[in-house]
Formats: sequence, structure tokens, C-alpha cells
Amino acid sequence: MPIIPLYGHEALRARLASAHARGALPPSLLLHGPRGVGKQRLALWIGQMLLCDSDGDRPCGACRHCRYVLDLAHPDLRWFFPRPRLPNPDPRTQDVLDDFVDAIGERRKSNGLYSAPGGSEALYVATVRAILQLASLTPAMGRRKIFVIGDAERMVSQEGSDQPANAFLKMLEEPQADTQIILTSSEPGSLLPTIRSRAIAVRVPPLVEPASRSFLGDPVVNAALDRLDLPASLEQRIELMEGAPGMLLESADRAQAIAAAREFLDAVSQGRAEWSRAVAKMSAARARGFFADVLDAMTVQLHARLRGAAGRSDASRVTAIAHSIEHIEDAKVRVDGNVNPQLLGASIAREVATWSLS
Ligand SMILES: [Zn+2]
Repeated sequence: MPIIPLYGHEALRARLASAHARGALPPSLLLHGPRGVGKQRLALWIGQMLLCDSDGDRPCGACRHCRYVLDLAHPDLRWFFPRPRLPNPDPRTQDVLDDFVDAIGERRKSNGLYSAPGGSEALYVATVRAILQLASLTPAMGRRKIFVIGDAERMVSQEGSDQPANAFLKMLEEPQADTQIILTSSEPGSLLPTIRSRAIAVRVPPLVEPASRSFLGDPVVNAALDRLDLPASLEQRIELMEGAPGMLLESADRAQAIAAAREFLDAVSQGRAEWSRAVAKMSAARARGFFADVLDAMTVQLHARLRGAAGRSDASRVTAIAHSIEHIEDAKVRVDGNVNPQLLGASIAREVATWSLS
């Protein structure tokens, strides 16, 4: 199934299409604007426009280039975004590319609907190296190659490896004639100034209300949102979205993390069998970012219990809960490394059980 269409941004699309028709589209673009407004989706649309066979001012949606792009399968449109650090501290380019095959596969499976990356996900040096390597190849299918680099402010520099960073800057400054680079960022102020100064900035505004309505009226979007814990009414969803489709998904993710944290803490107080099930459920088939969100929600809930115990002047309980909170804070740091969420969850369960088992 292809990714969902790009909704809205009509005026901006017309401007970009006209620049492209005049051969005046800057080769390094920075799309910036509020989180979740669809900057990466717009970047994919620009890529589609550049690859499309038709002469119209819009990608036709029907030629093989368009179809490949919409299936996230075009070999000349490469999409990169923050990812968890790979287990190997110095991964090979092939490992990075394999990881992106999985990541793109996930985004394809969700029809291009996804929420923001977790706090520890980044564009690590190995990813920049992979981009540079792909940039040195000739296009496989089309006339040019396009690199979409989402959340570009998450590009981390690493001591002792200036070389990829410098090569990337050079690529931004003087891209080859067959190369288009599109960076996106909702925090352009956090971008390395050397990157910011080398790309032409284009602001992507929130969706206007008719576009928000069309987005929410898309049957694929509807089916995806109905699986989430969201208000059912269209008006409420429009309000929650604030012109940024991604925010809806994120609010649902937060609600799910809060529910998972509550379920976990309840399970622990019911004994080992229950908590094993809860740990397995929490860590199975979910992104590492979700696990970190659950830990955040868990500390918030434990702080509430701590206040309750303090209110009852239950000093030993206060000490015990504070100890558990510390334990979880420590776990949060380890989530960023490559600790197995299942083991981490079990260790938290044992810790919390010392005081919460009834
Ligand atoms: Zn086309």
C-alpha cells in the first residue's frame, strides 16, 4: 500500500513547482516549521516531482517513478531520519543501510504515518557516512538522486570524526548536478550553523483547516487513528491536531505510554506472573522510543504515589518509592545504550515489587 497523499501546503507546492519548472529550485533545501506539519512528507513530494516522467507542474502519481516513490521504494530517493544507535559502535555502511531498510519498512507499513523519534535517536556519524557513499553513486533509475534528511538537527558530530561532517558540508554547499538534498527540521535553531548557512530555508506552515479536514477524512488515516486512543469526533481531532498531523499521532503515543506504565505498576503489585506478562507486553514489538516514553510516564506516576505517601507521613514508603524512582532514572540512561528492554523491565519490576507487593 502506498503512503498517504500529501494534504495541503498548496501555495508552497505551487511555489516549489514553479521554481522547479524554471530550473531555479535550490539544490540544498531546508524545510522548517512546527513539529508534525508534514515537512518530510512534503520533502518526499518534492522528490517525486523531481523524478516524475510527466511534464505537468505536479507529479503525475501514475508513472513508474511516482509509484516507486509512493511505495517508498525508489532507489534514487533516499530517506534518512534519526534512528537508535546500532549495537556496533562503529557500524559498517551496510549495517546502517540494512537498519534503514527496516525503518523504511515500518514507515511503509504504517502508510507513512509515524510519530517523532525518541530522545536518543539521532543521525549518527555512520549514517552521514552512508549518505556520502550513496551520494557518490550514479542514479539507478532516474535522472537524479534525492536525499531527504528528516530532523536534521539530530545530526550529531562526533569527536575525532570531522571528516564525514566536513564532507557532508561540502556536499550541501556544492551538490553534484544530479543531486538534490532536502533537510527538514522543526528546531532550525538547533541545527549546526555550518549546515543552516548552506541550505536555502523554506518555511512550512501548519495545515489550513480545509486541508486538516481532508487529511482526517482520508480512509487510511481514519483507520490508523481509530486504532489509537483519540477523541472520536472530527472537530476534536482538528482541534488536537493544530494543523500538524504528526501531533495527533504523538498525543496518541503519549496516551499509550501512560496506559502501559499504569498497567505495569498495577501488574507488579499483583505478583511475579502478572509482571512478567506486563514486561513482555511492554517490550515486545515496540520501538525503543516507546519504552523510554513508558519509563517517563512511570516516574510521573511514582512521583504522584510518593506525594500520596508523604501526605500520609509514611516515611518508609516515601524512601522506598524514591529509591524506585532513582532506579528508573538510571534505567532511562541505559535505554539509550543497547540494553534489552525486557531485562531492564524485569529489574524495575523487582525493584518496585520490594514495596508495592500487596
Ligand atoms: Zn509521475
